[in-house]
Amino acid sequence: MLREFIRNERIAYFSMEIALQNEIPTYSGGLGILAGDTLRSAADLEMPMVAVTLVSRLGYFRQSLDDQGRQSESPDAWSPEKYAVPLPAKIAVPIEDRSVWVSAWLYVLESYLGGRQPVLLLDTDLDENTEEDRRITDRLYGGDVAYRLKQEIVLGVGGARLLHALDFNVRQYHLNEGHSALLTLELLRRRAYPADDLRPGDTPYDIPAVREICNFTTHTPLAAGQDKFPYELVYHLLDDFVDRETVHHLAGQDELNMTRLAMNMSDYVNGVAKRHAEVSRRMFPGYRVRAITNGVHPHTWACIPFRKLYDAHLPGWCHEPEQLLRADCCIPKDQIWQTHVAAKAGLLALVAERCGITLDPALPILGFARRMTAYKRPDLLFHDIDRLRAIAENRPFQIVLAGKAHPRDEDGKALIRQLYQYMQQLAGIIPIVFLPNYDMEIALKLVSGSDIWLNTPLKPFEASGTSGMKAAFNGVPNLSVLDGWWVEGCIEGVTGWSIGDNCDDGENCDIANNNDADALYRKLENIVLPLYHEDRDGWISVMQGAISKNASMFNSHHMMRRYATDAYIR
Ligand SMILES: *Cc1c(COP(=O)(O)O)cnc(C)c1O
Repeated sequence: MLREFIRNERIAYFSMEIALQNEIPTYSGGLGILAGDTLRSAADLEMPMVAVTLVSRLGYFRQSLDDQGRQSESPDAWSPEKYAVPLPAKIAVPIEDRSVWVSAWLYVLESYLGGRQPVLLLDTDLDENTEEDRRITDRLYGGDVAYRLKQEIVLGVGGARLLHALDFNVRQYHLNEGHSALLTLELLRRRAYPADDLRPGDTPYDIPAVREICNFTTHTPLAAGQDKFPYELVYHLLDDFVDRETVHHLAGQDELNMTRLAMNMSDYVNGVAKRHAEVSRRMFPGYRVRAITNGVHPHTWACIPFRKLYDAHLPGWCHEPEQLLRADCCIPKDQIWQTHVAAKAGLLALVAERCGITLDPALPILGFARRMTAYKRPDLLFHDIDRLRAIAENRPFQIVLAGKAHPRDEDGKALIRQLYQYMQQLAGIIPIVFLPNYDMEIALKLVSGSDIWLNTPLKPFEASGTSGMKAAFNGVPNLSVLDGWWVEGCIEGVTGWSIGDNCDDGENCDIANNNDADALYRKLENIVLPLYHEDRDGWISVMQGAISKNASMFNSHHMMRRYATDAYIR
């Protein structure tokens, strides 16, 4: 069953979440989508990888919203046996003073071009384990800090041991975010010097040898978004897994910081956009943080009507998305518009089905969907309700929203309730709908069926953002704050539009952030809506610009070729 995958050397890709397909809820948002797109591109390009993640039997959560926008969460269970096969291997990891057994399911991610990549879904739901330990791999980002640390022991240490037990031939490890950083401690243990050879003060492990095979991608410039564990808890669960002095040296004196551990144990470290790499270098002075800008998977994120259009005009675009460069001259404008009309009908049908509301296909749709959390500022558009109303009375538009708040993110949940209040205040003037339970299917409908893709994060906290890249694959221009990938992607009036001033840090960001609402209103009122309503030909030129200059570049094939040459082969 595994034979085809253990013949050659592979890159082992560790990620707490991976969006494998819409029916498998083992992801929460952008990080998981990126991991899925990484593997989908690796499969298309036949780059040998093996992914390691948790089986997350109860998924992230299913979101329901009442009529006031109050979010409630329920488990999103799935059946691994329907999509994956159990592997005949079992290893143990030390947790507290017992052994927790870990096994895995093999999911084979298949490219429509024929490439295949193995994904190991780690599972502790085994007879050997106590009832409590059997639940460790159930809930993605669920439970308390001890539950999270147990998950990270299973992911990092368990994942490394299982790869070894299954005879995988690992050439390099890639840590997708810090959750799997304990993997590096397992690798250190394998490279411990014999105690007899050590003199007082010597480091007991061959640290450089481990660094040589580790790569780390950091994903958030928010300190709160980086995992940290009190040493008391670490020692309670892991005891003397690795010499304590070494751990303090590598992971921080006061608490175990997973980002710091991963940075210290990887020769190659990167952020997910150029701006994000700059911000990360400031957060971690003295470290070399390179930049590989994220991308999205071409076949997954172009809707069916656009796939057919590209197939007809630019055959081979799916393997070589650079072909899309020619979209601005080689695809007739009326065909781009007709294709968009078909995609928009798909979104309107979904809105009608899920919300019972009929939107007007003739009016522009502003789309906004992402994790609902404070720094994403989903409320920025509604900063001045009267002004927004006046803009819409002059040139009408509609709004479609979606997004989940983490069950413990009270601010994020309050933002959803706030959005529902704005919906009521604007009733009769701006049709606004909120699609519950944002997932991959809704995302594709939204990024392809909207007319304008809006993003308004607080700078400089949007590491990359990827939904705007998906929009570009469907000819939908971005209207966005200059942060993350959009700093690189925005050519004003050609690929879409910026909101507010560029800034990279500190005080000048505070000023820019405060002016963003005003800048957004001005851009909508004076540039974007007039172009849509009064100059259709000019509008379609921007759609072509988004495809030819954004989609050709911000795709995961391009990204994976960068990882191959910059990180994996060195
Ligand atoms: C693409 C995607 C995201 C990430 O979007 P951002 O723009 O990076 O915030 C989150 N959730 C789903 C379901 C997605 O498809």
